[in-house]
Amino acid sequence: MRAVAAADQGYLKAHERMETESATRPKLTTTPQGIPITGLLKEELQQHFKELGQPAYRVEQLLDWLYEKRVDSFQAMSNLPKALREQLETLFSFSLPEILEHTVSNDHTQKFLLRLTDGNLIETVLVPATPAKFGKSSERQTLCISSQVGCAYGCRFCASGLQGWKRNLKSHEIVEQLLRIEKISGKIVNNIVFMGMGEPLANFDNMMKAVKILNSPWGLNIGARQITVSTSGLVPQIQALAEQPLQLRLAISLHGATDPVRDELMPVNRRYNLDALWGACHYYQARKKQKVSFEYILIQNVNDSLEQAVQLAKKATQLDCKINLIPYNCVEGLSWERPSTERQHAFLSRLRQSGVAATIRQEKGHDINAACGQLRLRREQMASAPALPLL
Ligand code: SF4
Repeated sequence: MRAVAAADQGYLKAHERMETESATRPKLTTTPQGIPITGLLKEELQQHFKELGQPAYRVEQLLDWLYEKRVDSFQAMSNLPKALREQLETLFSFSLPEILEHTVSNDHTQKFLLRLTDGNLIETVLVPATPAKFGKSSERQTLCISSQVGCAYGCRFCASGLQGWKRNLKSHEIVEQLLRIEKISGKIVNNIVFMGMGEPLANFDNMMKAVKILNSPWGLNIGARQITVSTSGLVPQIQALAEQPLQLRLAISLHGATDPVRDELMPVNRRYNLDALWGACHYYQARKKQKVSFEYILIQNVNDSLEQAVQLAKKATQLDCKINLIPYNCVEGLSWERPSTERQHAFLSRLRQSGVAATIRQEKGHDINAACGQLRLRREQMASAPALPLL
């Protein structure tokens, strides 16, 4: 119990730090090398170009180079005057992350360990829509994006929370995950899930700014319904997300059907319990008229009993929702185990008997530690080993 209490204190302190940071953060963030260009909205670029005495069409040209042609240097923008290119170089920067590890699963899932310009590590996973074991390629490419370095929420089954929270990602660091991975993989990302490292709703402002860049026709032009924000259950921020004009998809990391079980797995549940969380989901649905999805990691003898399935079905039948059951991916250093296939299917059947739309999610990247935070954890545990960039 002492350990749990200490973990909660850590969570609350970090949570408060994040809220303070969000409240006091200036609109634009600069680095000694210049303002990161891929973190700016069109209207911000228009303002900068106006101050530079440039005509409005130059912004269109710049955006075309950034998000259509996907160049990563101002010198490559050949239809901009040389003097302007030089000016842009002094005022703005590109800061694409460095790829430290790139692993490819048997099912073609690709996992990347990225080093940010300040040396912090994050993970990004590129997931093809269909299992590629028969050599089929897929149109749909989903990128699982990180929103923070580490995580303060300390879910007991998750590698990302094991070393705590370090900092929020800036909007450009979120956008650049996509730009970098597309360049390396040669794939076009057309679906985004904020299910990588971190709690995206605890980095609300930066996440929303990045979403606007990802979604806008002048930016990466990915439909809002192709962008899913996944949360551990931050109730006020779910309500705030419901007020946003974009039709973003909402996914909830649920993992427990009753408060005692969820308290045990997810400390955030002691701050926002299940009643509050289901209430926020109903609110989101009322505002957005959209199905809400729930992720439920099945962990043997922890949350995989039929009684949990019954309790889950009671709540799920009151909402238009879908439950994704995910057999637990074992994480080094954690003692949880994956239930047998029979137990997984018994849980699924119990939900379906009640009329709940539920599925056992096809696992991706199990052989390359694709669960969030595992690569970074391993790399940081090998702190004495030199990092050898692959690319
Ligand atoms: S599951 Fe999500 S919210 Fe929980 S510790 Fe991991 S990254 Fe953080």
